[in-house]
Amino acid sequence: MSKTAIIIGGGTAGMETASQLARLGVEVDLIEKQPHLGGHLKNWDRLFPNRRNSDEVFDYLEKGMNDGISLHLNAEISNIRKSEEKFTIALQDGKELQSDALVIATGYEVFDARKKEEYGYGIYDNVITSVELEEFFRSNKQKNLLEGVASKRIGIIHCVGSRDEKAGNLYCSKLCCVTGVKQAIEIKELMPDAEIFCFYMDLRMFDRHFEEMYYEAQEKWGIQFIRGRLSEASENTDHTLLVKVEDTLTGLPLKMKVDLLILLVGFVPSPETRRLAAMLGLKEGDDRFLCPADEHTITNSTEIPGVFLAGTVKGPAGIANTITDARATAIQVADYLK
Ligand SMILES: Cc1cc2nc3c(=O)[nH]c(=O)nc-3n(C[C@H](O)[C@H](O)[C@H](O)COP(=O)(O)OP(=O)(O)OC[C@H]3O[C@@H](n4cnc5c(N)ncnc54)[C@H](O)[C@@H]3O)c2cc1C
Ligand code: SF4
Repeated sequence: MSKTAIIIGGGTAGMETASQLARLGVEVDLIEKQPHLGGHLKNWDRLFPNRRNSDEVFDYLEKGMNDGISLHLNAEISNIRKSEEKFTIALQDGKELQSDALVIATGYEVFDARKKEEYGYGIYDNVITSVELEEFFRSNKQKNLLEGVASKRIGIIHCVGSRDEKAGNLYCSKLCCVTGVKQAIEIKELMPDAEIFCFYMDLRMFDRHFEEMYYEAQEKWGIQFIRGRLSEASENTDHTLLVKVEDTLTGLPLKMKVDLLILLVGFVPSPETRRLAAMLGLKEGDDRFLCPADEHTITNSTEIPGVFLAGTVKGPAGIANTITDARATAIQVADYLK
């Protein structure tokens, strides 16, 4: 009889783990709470670092959804039990699924910018998040969004909800710097006369081709980078915004009028991941993302035999690293099932 695995979460990590396990002859049940697969990838328009269309990556992942994978969309998990060597998952529609191994690939959520009240998100119309900007790019409404603003002076705020003790998140989300640089270039492509200012604490352009994008942003597009942390945004009567920033290089306060403010929201552990982790007794780190069995050598298994992790349940990561991680998880699951 062939061995079985249940994967919870049908984003990049879950899809790639499922595809690789099916290739290795494991029967897979893939559980996704949304009506479609893809997770956050479905929300992005063009991807860093090369600005390719995100649909191309989704198409690659979708091609892996072959025989041997049973999809359960719109599926809510009500309970997980482990008995002997089997996992039993009860879905809210009354269905029960059983497997020999379990993979948690439930991803992340983005920081709720309303929690930084002083930035005015949810209060002022012209304060939006990087996620909303992607939605506009994706639905081709970007011109409406940006044509609505008067002089096209745009501020991009880094580290929203990350590296912020008050927000309860000390970690760096790793990918918002490059997202901000990518989005700044994309705005300039659409509106060459826009003036763009990125307000950052440090620029963390750690991966291949990230630094080059940062150079391109400055040299080709004239995007300005100001080292400073936003302390407050307030709205003027003409709906422009007054931003107060502390320039951390000169130590001087800076005030600037902008027409649009884009908040680069970071990654936060998803409450759903935490709920499932509590059912299984999985360990969370001090950043509340899930812990693997060993941070260097056993990064895809957990301390509970048969329970594995894939993708951003372990912390911020881009798509390439998520896919690599998912493949490593598939190999570890297959080894365990042997
Ligand atoms: C603003 C922004 C822009 C980004 N742009 C890029 C980019 O250009 N290039 C790049 O490489 N990376 C980018 N990323 C990172 C990218 O989104 C992640 O690398 C990727 O989404 C990680 O995939 P994942 O499967 O781990 O998580 P997710 O995409 O979060 O997928 C998790 C899936 O699990 C499902 N799920 C959750 N809980 C349950 C449950 N209880 N039951 C069933 N299903 C559940 C969710 O619905 C979702 O489908 C960006 C991130 C942000 C915040
Ligand atoms: S990646 Fe950049 S914007 Fe994001 S938390 Fe880290 S330093 Fe801040």
